[in-house]
Amino acid sequence: MSETKFCISCEKDISAIPDSVIFNCPNCGAEIARCGKCRGREVPYTCKVCGFEGP
Ligand SMILES: [Zn+2]
Ligand SMILES: [Zn+2]
Repeated sequence: MSETKFCISCEKDISAIPDSVIFNCPNCGAEIARCGKCRGREVPYTCKVCGFEGP
């Protein structure tokens, strides 16, 4: 798989950053990508589809 995903918080290519995750929005189920750096710093994210904010 070579699909490029970008962190929802910092918009960097998550494939270049260790410990990155892709998960589904708890509210609407949209795919959300988050890089390891933003996870580690607990940067809040906002779902681009429904506006849900989560840690
Ligand atoms: Zn990030
Ligand atoms: Zn959502």
